[in-house]
Amino acid sequence: MKLTELFKNDKLSLSFEVFPPKTDTAFESVKHATEEIAKLRPSFMSVTYGAGGGTSKYTLDIAKNIKANYGVPTLAHLTCVSSTHETVRERIEDMKAAGIENVMALRGDIPAGLENADRSHWDYKHALELVRELRESGADFCIGGACYPEIHPESANQKEDIKYLKEKVEAGCEFLTTQMFFDNNLLYNFLYKIRESGITVPIIPGIMPITNGNQVDRAIKLSGSFMPQRFKSLVDKFGTTPAAMKQAGIAYATDQIIDLFANGIRNVHVYSMNKPDVAEAILRNLSDILG
Ligand code: FAD
Repeated sequence: MKLTELFKNDKLSLSFEVFPPKTDTAFESVKHATEEIAKLRPSFMSVTYGAGGGTSKYTLDIAKNIKANYGVPTLAHLTCVSSTHETVRERIEDMKAAGIENVMALRGDIPAGLENADRSHWDYKHALELVRELRESGADFCIGGACYPEIHPESANQKEDIKYLKEKVEAGCEFLTTQMFFDNNLLYNFLYKIRESGITVPIIPGIMPITNGNQVDRAIKLSGSFMPQRFKSLVDKFGTTPAAMKQAGIAYATDQIIDLFANGIRNVHVYSMNKPDVAEAILRNLSDILG
Protein backbone atom coordinates (compact mmCIF):
# COMPACT_ATOMS: atom_id res chain seq x y z
CA MET A 1 0.00 0.00 0.00
CA LYS A 2 1.27 3.42 -0.91
CA LEU A 3 1.40 5.73 2.09
CA THR A 4 -0.22 8.53 0.12
CA GLU A 5 -3.39 6.38 0.13
CA LEU A 6 -3.18 6.07 3.90
CA PHE A 7 -2.72 9.82 4.34
CA LYS A 8 -5.95 10.48 2.42
CA ASN A 9 -7.81 8.64 5.18
CA ASP A 10 -9.56 10.77 7.85
CA LYS A 11 -8.81 8.25 10.59
CA LEU A 12 -6.26 9.15 13.27
CA SER A 13 -3.24 6.85 13.14
CA LEU A 14 0.18 6.13 14.58
CA SER A 15 3.17 4.69 12.76
CA PHE A 16 6.47 3.48 14.24
CA GLU A 17 10.11 3.69 13.21
CA VAL A 18 12.58 0.86 13.71
CA PHE A 19 16.24 0.53 12.83
CA PRO A 20 18.04 -2.49 11.34
CA PRO A 21 20.87 -4.36 13.09
CA LYS A 22 24.44 -3.30 12.46
CA THR A 23 25.79 -6.85 12.73
CA ASP A 24 24.71 -10.35 11.72
CA THR A 25 24.61 -11.47 15.33
CA ALA A 26 22.08 -8.79 16.27
CA PHE A 27 19.76 -9.67 13.38
CA GLU A 28 17.46 -12.15 15.16
CA SER A 29 16.88 -9.96 18.22
CA VAL A 30 16.18 -6.88 16.08
CA LYS A 31 13.89 -8.89 13.82
CA HIS A 32 11.99 -10.11 16.87
CA ALA A 33 11.60 -6.56 18.26
CA THR A 34 10.30 -5.26 14.91
CA GLU A 35 7.85 -8.17 14.72
CA GLU A 36 6.52 -7.38 18.19
CA ILE A 37 5.94 -3.79 17.04
CA ALA A 38 4.29 -5.01 13.82
CA LYS A 39 1.87 -7.13 15.89
CA LEU A 40 0.54 -3.88 17.38
CA ARG A 41 -0.86 -3.09 13.91
CA PRO A 42 0.55 0.42 13.39
CA SER A 43 -0.60 2.24 10.25
CA PHE A 44 2.91 1.69 8.80
CA MET A 45 6.48 1.09 9.93
CA SER A 46 9.57 2.83 8.65
CA VAL A 47 12.95 1.11 8.63
CA THR A 48 16.01 3.36 8.77
CA TYR A 49 19.18 3.03 6.69
CA GLY A 50 22.77 3.39 7.91
CA ALA A 51 24.40 6.56 6.62
CA GLY A 52 27.34 4.59 5.23
CA GLY A 53 25.05 2.02 3.62
CA GLY A 54 26.34 -0.72 5.95
CA THR A 55 22.87 -1.87 6.93
CA SER A 56 21.22 -1.65 3.53
CA LYS A 57 20.52 -5.36 3.23
CA TYR A 58 18.98 -5.50 6.68
CA THR A 59 16.76 -2.48 5.95
CA LEU A 60 15.15 -4.42 3.13
CA ASP A 61 15.09 -7.74 5.02
CA ILE A 62 13.25 -6.16 7.96
CA ALA A 63 10.88 -4.17 5.73
CA LYS A 64 10.03 -7.22 3.61
CA ASN A 65 9.41 -9.41 6.66
CA ILE A 66 7.05 -6.92 8.32
CA LYS A 67 5.06 -6.44 5.15
CA ALA A 68 4.89 -10.07 4.04
CA ASN A 69 4.31 -11.74 7.40
CA TYR A 70 2.41 -9.09 9.37
CA GLY A 71 0.64 -7.15 6.61
CA VAL A 72 1.95 -3.80 7.88
CA PRO A 73 2.82 -1.29 5.12
CA THR A 74 6.50 -0.36 5.24
CA LEU A 75 8.62 2.63 4.36
CA ALA A 76 12.26 1.78 3.54
CA HIS A 77 14.78 4.59 4.11
CA LEU A 78 17.62 5.20 1.67
CA THR A 79 20.50 7.68 2.03
CA CYS A 80 22.88 8.90 -0.65
CA VAL A 81 25.54 11.26 0.64
CA SER A 82 28.40 8.84 1.09
CA SER A 83 27.42 6.67 -1.90
CA THR A 84 28.26 6.58 -5.56
CA HIS A 85 25.67 6.64 -8.36
CA GLU A 86 26.49 3.00 -8.98
CA THR A 87 25.74 1.93 -5.40
CA VAL A 88 22.53 3.91 -5.26
CA ARG A 89 21.37 2.40 -8.56
CA GLU A 90 22.02 -1.07 -7.12
CA ARG A 91 20.04 -0.21 -3.98
CA ILE A 92 17.14 1.01 -6.09
CA GLU A 93 17.17 -2.24 -8.07
CA ASP A 94 17.21 -4.19 -4.77
CA MET A 95 14.19 -2.19 -3.62
CA LYS A 96 12.32 -2.92 -6.82
CA ALA A 97 13.13 -6.62 -6.51
CA ALA A 98 11.97 -6.64 -2.87
CA GLY A 99 8.63 -5.11 -3.88
CA ILE A 100 9.19 -1.95 -1.81
CA GLU A 101 6.47 0.60 -2.54
CA ASN A 102 7.44 3.45 -0.19
CA VAL A 103 10.90 5.01 0.02
CA MET A 104 12.16 7.72 2.35
CA ALA A 105 14.76 9.61 0.30
CA LEU A 106 17.43 11.09 2.52
CA ARG A 107 20.78 12.71 2.12
CA GLY A 108 22.19 11.20 5.33
CA ASP A 109 24.53 12.93 7.73
CA ILE A 110 27.92 14.05 6.48
CA PRO A 111 30.43 11.44 7.75
CA ALA A 112 32.42 12.60 10.80
CA GLY A 113 35.57 14.48 9.82
CA LEU A 114 34.25 15.44 6.37
CA GLU A 115 32.02 18.31 7.49
CA ASN A 116 34.34 20.91 5.96
CA ALA A 117 35.56 18.79 3.02
CA ASP A 118 35.24 19.95 -0.58
CA ARG A 119 32.04 18.20 -1.70
CA SER A 120 32.08 19.38 -5.29
CA HIS A 121 33.16 15.97 -6.64
CA TRP A 122 30.69 13.94 -4.52
CA ASP A 123 28.03 12.08 -6.51
CA TYR A 124 25.30 13.31 -4.15
CA LYS A 125 25.15 16.57 -2.27
CA HIS A 126 21.48 16.72 -1.31
CA ALA A 127 18.46 14.46 -0.97
CA LEU A 128 16.98 16.29 -3.95
CA GLU A 129 19.30 14.36 -6.29
CA LEU A 130 18.16 11.05 -4.81
CA VAL A 131 14.48 12.00 -5.16
CA ARG A 132 15.09 12.75 -8.87
CA GLU A 133 16.95 9.49 -9.35
CA LEU A 134 14.16 7.47 -7.68
CA ARG A 135 11.60 9.21 -9.89
CA GLU A 136 13.63 8.44 -13.00
CA SER A 137 14.23 4.81 -11.98
CA GLY A 138 11.12 3.56 -13.72
CA ALA A 139 9.68 2.21 -10.44
CA ASP A 140 6.41 3.65 -9.19
CA PHE A 141 7.69 4.46 -5.69
CA CYS A 142 5.78 6.62 -3.25
CA ILE A 143 8.59 8.93 -2.08
CA GLY A 144 8.91 10.71 1.27
CA GLY A 145 11.50 13.17 2.56
CA ALA A 146 12.66 14.69 5.84
CA CYS A 147 11.85 18.18 7.12
CA TYR A 148 12.92 20.20 10.12
CA PRO A 149 10.53 22.31 12.22
CA GLU A 150 13.58 23.85 13.95
CA ILE A 151 15.54 24.10 10.66
CA HIS A 152 18.25 21.70 9.58
CA PRO A 153 21.44 22.34 11.58
CA GLU A 154 23.38 23.18 8.39
CA SER A 155 20.84 25.72 7.13
CA ALA A 156 21.56 29.42 7.36
CA ASN A 157 17.92 30.26 8.12
CA GLN A 158 14.39 28.88 7.85
CA LYS A 159 13.58 30.73 4.66
CA GLU A 160 16.46 29.02 2.86
CA ASP A 161 15.62 25.64 4.42
CA ILE A 162 12.00 25.89 3.21
CA LYS A 163 13.11 27.02 -0.25
CA TYR A 164 15.16 23.82 -0.65
CA LEU A 165 12.37 21.75 0.89
CA LYS A 166 10.01 23.05 -1.76
CA GLU A 167 12.47 22.00 -4.48
CA LYS A 168 12.55 18.52 -2.96
CA VAL A 169 8.75 18.33 -3.06
CA GLU A 170 8.61 19.63 -6.63
CA ALA A 171 11.13 16.93 -7.60
CA GLY A 172 8.72 14.22 -6.39
CA CYS A 173 8.47 13.97 -2.57
CA GLU A 174 4.87 13.10 -1.83
CA PHE A 175 4.99 13.51 1.94
CA LEU A 176 7.42 14.80 4.57
CA THR A 177 8.21 13.42 8.01
CA THR A 178 9.54 15.84 10.59
CA GLN A 179 12.58 15.68 12.78
CA MET A 180 11.68 15.13 16.45
CA PHE A 181 10.53 18.15 18.45
CA PHE A 182 9.47 18.54 22.07
CA ASP A 183 7.36 21.68 21.81
CA ASN A 184 4.32 21.37 19.54
CA ASN A 185 4.19 25.12 18.98
CA LEU A 186 7.37 24.79 16.91
CA LEU A 187 5.53 22.35 14.64
CA TYR A 188 2.46 24.58 14.31
CA ASN A 189 4.63 27.60 13.37
CA PHE A 190 6.53 25.48 10.86
CA LEU A 191 3.31 24.18 9.30
CA TYR A 192 2.06 27.70 8.89
CA LYS A 193 5.27 28.72 7.11
CA ILE A 194 5.50 25.78 4.78
CA ARG A 195 1.85 26.01 3.77
CA GLU A 196 2.43 29.72 3.10
CA SER A 197 5.39 28.75 0.88
CA GLY A 198 3.07 26.62 -1.27
CA ILE A 199 4.09 23.15 -0.01
CA THR A 200 0.86 21.15 0.15
CA VAL A 201 1.99 17.53 0.69
CA PRO A 202 1.10 15.72 3.96
CA ILE A 203 3.43 16.52 6.85
CA ILE A 204 3.86 13.68 9.35
CA PRO A 205 5.10 14.91 12.75
CA GLY A 206 7.80 12.70 14.28
CA ILE A 207 7.65 12.20 18.04
CA MET A 208 10.51 10.71 20.05
CA PRO A 209 9.54 9.23 23.43
CA ILE A 210 12.56 9.87 25.65
CA THR A 211 12.48 6.93 28.02
CA ASN A 212 16.03 6.98 29.30
CA GLY A 213 17.91 9.89 30.87
CA ASN A 214 21.05 9.03 28.88
CA GLN A 215 19.11 9.36 25.61
CA VAL A 216 18.56 13.07 26.14
CA ASP A 217 22.02 14.40 25.31
CA ARG A 218 22.36 12.22 22.23
CA ALA A 219 18.89 13.07 20.95
CA ILE A 220 19.51 16.79 21.37
CA LYS A 221 22.95 16.59 19.81
CA LEU A 222 21.61 14.75 16.76
CA SER A 223 18.51 16.84 16.25
CA GLY A 224 19.41 20.21 17.78
CA SER A 225 15.88 20.20 19.25
CA PHE A 226 14.74 22.81 21.75
CA MET A 227 14.00 21.39 25.22
CA PRO A 228 11.05 23.14 26.86
CA GLN A 229 11.43 23.78 30.60
CA ARG A 230 8.60 21.32 31.33
CA PHE A 231 10.60 18.56 29.64
CA LYS A 232 13.90 19.58 31.28
CA SER A 233 12.28 19.44 34.73
CA LEU A 234 11.00 15.98 34.02
CA VAL A 235 14.47 14.75 33.00
CA ASP A 236 16.07 16.49 36.01
CA LYS A 237 13.64 14.81 38.37
CA PHE A 238 13.40 11.31 36.88
CA GLY A 239 16.43 10.99 34.57
CA THR A 240 18.40 8.81 36.97
CA THR A 241 15.50 6.50 37.90
CA PRO A 242 14.99 4.28 34.82
CA ALA A 243 11.43 3.06 35.47
CA ALA A 244 10.20 6.53 36.43
CA MET A 245 11.91 8.16 33.43
CA LYS A 246 10.34 5.63 31.11
CA GLN A 247 6.88 6.29 32.50
CA ALA A 248 7.36 10.06 32.39
CA GLY A 249 8.81 9.97 28.83
CA ILE A 250 5.90 7.90 27.54
CA ALA A 251 3.42 10.26 29.23
CA TYR A 252 5.15 13.31 27.70
CA ALA A 253 5.12 11.79 24.19
CA THR A 254 1.47 10.73 24.64
CA ASP A 255 0.59 14.27 25.66
CA GLN A 256 2.33 15.69 22.58
CA ILE A 257 0.45 13.25 20.32
CA ILE A 258 -2.94 14.03 21.87
CA ASP A 259 -2.31 17.74 21.36
CA LEU A 260 -1.34 17.11 17.71
CA PHE A 261 -4.52 15.09 17.10
CA ALA A 262 -6.59 17.75 18.86
CA ASN A 263 -5.13 20.34 16.50
CA GLY A 264 -6.01 18.59 13.28
CA ILE A 265 -3.01 16.30 12.67
CA ARG A 266 -4.17 12.82 11.61
CA ASN A 267 -0.95 10.81 11.27
CA VAL A 268 1.87 10.84 13.82
CA HIS A 269 5.13 8.93 13.43
CA VAL A 270 6.74 7.63 16.63
CA TYR A 271 10.48 7.08 16.84
CA SER A 272 9.96 3.84 18.72
CA MET A 273 13.62 2.77 18.55
CA ASN A 274 12.96 -1.01 18.43
CA LYS A 275 11.14 -0.85 21.78
CA PRO A 276 7.85 -2.79 21.55
CA ASP A 277 7.01 -2.01 25.19
CA VAL A 278 7.20 1.73 24.54
CA ALA A 279 5.16 1.46 21.33
CA GLU A 280 2.58 -0.67 23.13
CA ALA A 281 2.32 1.72 26.11
CA ILE A 282 1.71 4.71 23.83
CA LEU A 283 -0.95 2.84 21.87
CA ARG A 284 -2.61 1.78 25.11
CA ASN A 285 -2.68 5.39 26.32
CA LEU A 286 -4.43 6.35 23.07
CA SER A 287 -6.73 3.35 22.68
CA ASP A 288 -10.04 5.24 22.73
CA ILE A 289 -8.63 8.20 20.83
CA LEU A 290 -7.42 6.00 17.98
CA GLY A 291 -10.64 3.93 18.16
P1 FAD B 1 18.61 17.48 2.49
O1 FAD B 1 17.17 17.58 2.13
O2 FAD B 1 19.59 17.32 1.40
O3 FAD B 1 18.97 18.77 3.36
C1 FAD B 1 20.25 18.85 4.03
C2 FAD B 1 20.69 20.31 4.10
O4 FAD B 1 20.99 20.77 2.77
C3 FAD B 1 19.62 21.27 4.64
O5 FAD B 1 20.29 22.29 5.34
C4 FAD B 1 18.98 21.81 3.38
O6 FAD B 1 18.38 23.09 3.58
C5 FAD B 1 20.17 21.89 2.44
N1 FAD B 1 19.81 21.73 1.02
C6 FAD B 1 18.89 20.87 0.52
N2 FAD B 1 18.85 20.96 -0.82
C7 FAD B 1 19.77 21.90 -1.17
C8 FAD B 1 20.21 22.44 -2.41
N3 FAD B 1 19.66 22.04 -3.56
N4 FAD B 1 21.18 23.39 -2.39
C9 FAD B 1 21.73 23.81 -1.22
N5 FAD B 1 21.35 23.34 -0.01
C10 FAD B 1 20.39 22.40 0.02
N6 FAD B 1 19.79 9.48 8.47
C11 FAD B 1 20.27 8.25 8.13
O7 FAD B 1 21.47 8.09 7.97
N7 FAD B 1 19.42 7.19 7.94
C12 FAD B 1 18.08 7.30 8.09
O8 FAD B 1 17.34 6.32 7.90
C13 FAD B 1 17.53 8.58 8.45
N8 FAD B 1 16.19 8.77 8.60
C14 FAD B 1 15.71 10.03 8.89
C15 FAD B 1 14.32 10.23 8.97
C16 FAD B 1 13.81 11.49 9.27
C17 FAD B 1 12.32 11.68 9.35
C18 FAD B 1 14.68 12.57 9.51
C19 FAD B 1 14.14 13.93 9.88
C20 FAD B 1 16.05 12.39 9.42
C21 FAD B 1 16.58 11.13 9.10
N9 FAD B 1 17.95 10.91 8.97
C22 FAD B 1 18.44 9.67 8.64
C23 FAD B 1 18.90 12.01 9.21
C24 FAD B 1 19.17 12.80 7.89
O9 FAD B 1 19.88 11.98 7.01
C25 FAD B 1 19.99 14.04 8.29
O10 FAD B 1 19.20 14.94 9.01
C26 FAD B 1 20.74 14.73 7.15
O11 FAD B 1 21.65 15.65 7.74
C27 FAD B 1 19.87 15.51 6.19
O12 FAD B 1 19.12 14.70 5.39
P2 FAD B 1 17.98 15.32 4.41
O13 FAD B 1 17.48 14.23 3.60
O14 FAD B 1 17.03 16.14 5.20
O15 FAD B 1 18.90 16.29 3.52
